[in-house]
Amino acid sequence: MSAPEITWLSPDTVQVRQPKSSHWEAPFLFLLFGRERALLIDTGATNDEAVFSLRATIDRLTAEWLRRNPAVFTRPYPLVVAHSHAHRDHIAGDPLLAGRPGTTLVGTTPAQVISFFGFRSWPEETVEFSLGRRTVDVIGGPGHEPSAVAFFDRETGILFSGDTVLPGHLYVRDRAQYRATIERLIRFRDAPTAPVRELRGAHVEMSDTPGVIYPPGTLDQPDELPLALPPRILDRVLSALDEAGDEPGARVVRRRFVLVDE
Ligand SMILES: [Zn+2]
Repeated sequence: MSAPEITWLSPDTVQVRQPKSSHWEAPFLFLLFGRERALLIDTGATNDEAVFSLRATIDRLTAEWLRRNPAVFTRPYPLVVAHSHAHRDHIAGDPLLAGRPGTTLVGTTPAQVISFFGFRSWPEETVEFSLGRRTVDVIGGPGHEPSAVAFFDRETGILFSGDTVLPGHLYVRDRAQYRATIERLIRFRDAPTAPVRELRGAHVEMSDTPGVIYPPGTLDQPDELPLALPPRILDRVLSALDEAGDEPGARVVRRRFVLVDE
């Protein structure tokens, strides 16, 4: 077992990558701490703690943050476990956190996601989710997968975009919904209330050679692109959708992603 890759993106925000050696998908997970609760986005590609030590990692990071924030005294400190979407490599670790004290697991069907976050108009609506002096906007995002959402963290300006937008394959399962989601994210980005600084998706598959992608199953990616993408990438995705048109199985290669119609 190799250790997960931990990056503190801010004093209250952690990026955790499941190591490639444990699963070629090597998904990224994000842990956001607030005054009243923490939010974990995704649980990784395995339910075996010996393969990827999810529970121990979350416990250790939480203890570290609580030591630095002694004024937060609710015990057990609540954790909400939500998902970018319901594909296996993002939810497989749920059972490892199921019995954890103070932990709430959000279900993975569209109905469960809609009811937990309180969407009245899915997927058009954006709903607020409070972590306590820290607000995350939850944006409906089906198209890659029916229960997909994006999370915008106002504190860091990061839009967590799951598998919808990332430096890798953008697999479009429902073309109309996916396009509507990209247009929704562009409207959100362009609203004056939400300064989106960057997007962070759930995988990296592109190499640093423009348009060259590591094929599925690759374990060693020595020249991969960084995870973060600039907000303008959303316009590039929309133009790639235009280029794909109605052609079934279309594949549009861009510098930092490859759009694939499924
Ligand atoms: Zn996916």
